Amino acid sequence: MPLRGRPAALLPLCLLCLQAALPLRGHRGRYAGDKVIRVVPESKRETQILRAAFNRLKVDLWQPSSPFHIVEGTVTDVRVPQNTSRSLLPYLQQADIAYTILISDLQKAIENQTGSRTYRNRRSLSEYNYEVYHSLEEIQGWMYHLNKTHSDLVHMFSVGKSYEGRPLLVLKLGKRSRPYKKAVWMDCGIHAREWIGPAFCQWFVKEALQMYQIDPAMRKMLTQLYFYVMPVFNVDGYHFSWTNDRFWRKTRSKNARFRCHGVDANRNWKVKWCDEGASFHPCDDTYCGPFPESEPEVKAVAHFLRKHRKQIKAYLSFHAYAQMLLYPYSYKYATIPNFSCVESAAYNAVNALQSAHGVRYRYGPASSTLYVSSGSSMDWAYKNGIPYAFAFELRDTGHFGFLLPETLIKPTCTETMLAVKNITLHLLKKCH
Ligand SMILES: [Zn+2]
Repeated sequence: MPLRGRPAALLPLCLLCLQAALPLRGHRGRYAGDKVIRVVPESKRETQILRAAFNRLKVDLWQPSSPFHIVEGTVTDVRVPQNTSRSLLPYLQQADIAYTILISDLQKAIENQTGSRTYRNRRSLSEYNYEVYHSLEEIQGWMYHLNKTHSDLVHMFSVGKSYEGRPLLVLKLGKRSRPYKKAVWMDCGIHAREWIGPAFCQWFVKEALQMYQIDPAMRKMLTQLYFYVMPVFNVDGYHFSWTNDRFWRKTRSKNARFRCHGVDANRNWKVKWCDEGASFHPCDDTYCGPFPESEPEVKAVAHFLRKHRKQIKAYLSFHAYAQMLLYPYSYKYATIPNFSCVESAAYNAVNALQSAHGVRYRYGPASSTLYVSSGSSMDWAYKNGIPYAFAFELRDTGHFGFLLPETLIKPTCTETMLAVKNITLHLLKKCH
């Protein structure tokens, strides 16, 4: 019988012992024996215990993104390293906190997903496989290829360079039919480990080019609008998630005082920078950086959006996972001035999404639907005059988490496509 009545004062002492067990792991097989567990705290006491434990142990929070956001009644998914789980799991049992194991051996789960696949650089668009995840090199090669073969609808350019010197490539899609056209900005992969994001951006481009000839709605979209699509925002982080650490989230910039790398590129924007829901500590996953736009990737995109703020009517950012469609504000509980237009766009978009495979998305202001976070790209875009700013949290709700199987790329992208088309067509109508 677990000891529910055990004095909470004893627990922090045990935590000190737990900390000493933190493992040092190399790259190969670094997740062997790691588990992903789910806890739904049922009381204030449980919430406090979990926050303290996860804070001290520096476990990898998958949902929410920092211990600060752990709240009563809400799902908390966390990756627990093998050594830590030997002491953490009995500790949770002792504290009478129920948990379920979502993934029992993470290394095996990773290997099952990506171990067997090999990639060959395909020449033609029709042969490119959109139902597998692609490395950064593959995605960039694909972008160069499209730029050459589809010059009537595609124009590729770079908005700058990443911390490690990689180009920040964007595809501009649309028919050059008239001198002035409204535009939609889409970015994927701000957070490196959310691989379904870049897969969706690629899917969107494929659909646009394939359907332009046959689908009147797509034709209308590409005739009346431009789409700026940035398939991988955080190029260094994404590359690192392929080569070193599958669950890397941040950029790869070095810190002057700490050995930890990277900044959360979705906490680094100049909008209530480093306030609630962001961390000042360089080793945290929600580190806001030394100053706003410290990350060259954020600075470059912010510069581009600022320059084109009059033209760009919608900002869409793709994340995972939670199955949500979020709009501002993220940093405060308040209603945006054009709430009714944005809300109806979101309502219609999630319904369109659901019509594909019955998957329901929650929607609403990010602060009350997900959690409060400051310095996000979506809030920044909205504050800088882009009237429709959305963040998608794609599939799933935690069964696979960041390891969404490749077999689910197609259904996820198909349904998301309906939502994006719906939002886009909404832009072309007037909303009062
Ligand atoms: Zn994200």
